[in-house]
Amino acid sequence: MLKKILIVYAHQSAGSFNAAAKDAAVKVLTSQGCKVEVSDLYAMKFKASATAEDVTGTVKDAEHFQYGEETMLAWKEGRLSADITEEHRKLSEAAVVVFQFPMYWFTVPAIMKGWMDRVLTLGFAYTSEKRYSQGIFKDKKAMLSFTTGSHESMFSANGINGDMNVTLWPLQNGILHYCGFQVLAPQIFWPPPHIPSESRCSMLEAWRTRLEGHASFCLNVEPDVTTVHWCDCSH
Ligand SMILES: Cc1cc2nc3c(=O)[nH]c(=O)nc-3n(C[C@H](O)[C@H](O)[C@H](O)COP(=O)(O)OP(=O)(O)OC[C@H]3O[C@@H](n4cnc5c(N)ncnc54)[C@H](O)[C@@H]3O)c2cc1C
Repeated sequence: MLKKILIVYAHQSAGSFNAAAKDAAVKVLTSQGCKVEVSDLYAMKFKASATAEDVTGTVKDAEHFQYGEETMLAWKEGRLSADITEEHRKLSEAAVVVFQFPMYWFTVPAIMKGWMDRVLTLGFAYTSEKRYSQGIFKDKKAMLSFTTGSHESMFSANGINGDMNVTLWPLQNGILHYCGFQVLAPQIFWPPPHIPSESRCSMLEAWRTRLEGHASFCLNVEPDVTTVHWCDCSH
């Protein structure tokens, strides 16, 4: 059976480097026989804020609306808003999820954080019993693929921004691994706006090569995660 890949993509411009990285991934993975779906969040005008409108029908406690509990109940009863339900479908079918984005303030753009807040619903994506290595998505893989405005040296342990691994901990461990995902090594495109055109082309070529090396993404065999597994979190 062919594997499905979901690319959650956040950039406003089709001419951006992020668009080129996303397009390269779609092309390579499709050519390997994967079924690729893209959630183009800005094009979809994806709602970023987690609000009571995410639930249809009567809420349990309108006076003290609790997003986690209300959306879990709505998920169980089929009362979540259609945009969340559609992302649940894509996520359920995907074996691998790639998040493609420009780094904003050391994290994902707000629209992508909104996807995480709204789509990783309590009950559907995690419970207090099912998290980390026992998590609901423990058979799925996830990868952050992103661009920066900073050079690599600035995100080293002695650099002005500090260690990139520390920066990525909330996303990779607190969100993805919390929901059970096996987190693959991030794909980092160091500052595309501040390097020569040839270097940008080389980065895209390296990305294509890396994806081609992950043929197991698309086939029904297990990849060698030890070579790419980023976080060794034994919770
Ligand atoms: C709100 C905000 C917060 C930010 N916070 C941070 C932060 O915390 N840390 C940090 O490091 N940076 C930060 N930045 C900077 C941001 O991460 C970078 O500007 C962004 O990652 C650059 O990626 P891009 O896709 O937008 O590049 P673009 O500017 O779209 O592209 C860069 C260059 O690549 C070219 N290009 C496009 N397609 C191709 C192709 N196929 N082949 C070769 N070249 C191509 C483009 O023409 C352009 O010249 C922040 C920016 C904003 C707006």
